[in-house]
Amino acid sequence: MICIECGAKYLDGPSRYWCDRCNGLLEVVFDLEMLSADISLSWKKRPLGVWRYSELLPVRDPRTVISLGEGGTRLYHCDRLGSAIGLKRLFVKNEGDNPTGSFKDRGMTVGVSKAIELGMKYTICASTGNTSASLAAYSAKAGLKCVVLIPEGKIALGKIAQAIAYGARIVAIKGGFDDTMRLVKDICAVHPSVYLLNSINPHRLEGQKTIAFELVDQLKAVPDYVVVPVGNAGNISAIWKGFKELYNLGMIDELPKMVGIQAEGAAPLVKAFKKGWKRVEPVVDPKTKASAIRIGHPVNWKKALRAVKESKGLFESVSDEEILRAQWALASHEGIFIEPASAASIAGVIKLRDLGLLDGDELMVCIATGNGLKDPKYVLDNYEVRIVRISAELHKLREYLMELELSGNLKI
Ligand SMILES: *Cc1c(COP(=O)(O)O)cnc(C)c1O
Ligand SMILES: [Zn+2]
Repeated sequence: MICIECGAKYLDGPSRYWCDRCNGLLEVVFDLEMLSADISLSWKKRPLGVWRYSELLPVRDPRTVISLGEGGTRLYHCDRLGSAIGLKRLFVKNEGDNPTGSFKDRGMTVGVSKAIELGMKYTICASTGNTSASLAAYSAKAGLKCVVLIPEGKIALGKIAQAIAYGARIVAIKGGFDDTMRLVKDICAVHPSVYLLNSINPHRLEGQKTIAFELVDQLKAVPDYVVVPVGNAGNISAIWKGFKELYNLGMIDELPKMVGIQAEGAAPLVKAFKKGWKRVEPVVDPKTKASAIRIGHPVNWKKALRAVKESKGLFESVSDEEILRAQWALASHEGIFIEPASAASIAGVIKLRDLGLLDGDELMVCIATGNGLKDPKYVLDNYEVRIVRISAELHKLREYLMELELSGNLKI
């Protein structure tokens, strides 16, 4: 591992989450020249999924891998939504297909396997929901005790239900996500048998970079834009790292532009990017209904700013209203139901089009980070619910169908 701030190098060994010298973020690096030239041939023999790419994952012994069959998520060509918003080649990668319903599983299969390799007894994370659901599941499969810290009262119904069912020990903290994150870092600094599995853990990001590998395998091309909802900014950094590795291996000869989307009330990276700052100013009380990206002080801000700049991409923000409409638009045009944070990516694409930054022919991929069923209460609270009541008589139902025929289609 290498420190992205001061360049200090660390051999794979005891658990380490930040640089001993300067507290900087760490990154896993592979000696790409040591890899055999034909790893892509081995990849073709394995099913699509995280472990297809094992040569580029930091786990030494395949027998210690803890897997629930993560990755291999579907990629949809959204032609109906695309033509409604003037984009011919709009694709959605549905990470809601993963075992616990979010992309976090890609990171956790690697991270929890690492916990086993290192002989850890406990796993821990701070979470707005999906991290705890995923860590709880992988810890259960590994036989490790899992402790999750959640900001009290701020976590979606489906996610807390998952953490409970998978048997995590749940601690509610009075405060926001950023407070719980600080606490988790502090406990892991003094407690060596507790393994930290937030996205500050560089091994977790290694699993998540496989989104890039799968996209290239599924599209047989490199997208022009990859649009990612951003909270702690680990995922956008990981996906960019994945593309760069393929590029450095000579497997692709272009790179996508990375676009990070934040919610207006929780957009420290958007602000830093637009002002050309070298660092972010934390948002003290972040506000958005998209709880998975309600983050005021993104742990991986530095990696993410670098990813977006290197790729010549951008950061943009969207309102809660735009997120709501985007979730509805995707579900009602394409039959894909994603959670609010994920819909920020669709809202982001619509915004780029409105800003005149797209000509309509670009190969666009939105990363739909989590399943819509995670947050059912959001739909019930925010949609105009259209349920009509009639008595159980045929003529009533026929009247209803006649009215329906007269009414127009819903518009975006
Ligand atoms: C975790 C999560 C995000 C944010 O990912 P980061 O790596 O923290 O930027 C976005 N959407 C969903 C559904 C998530 O679970
Ligand atoms: Zn350092």
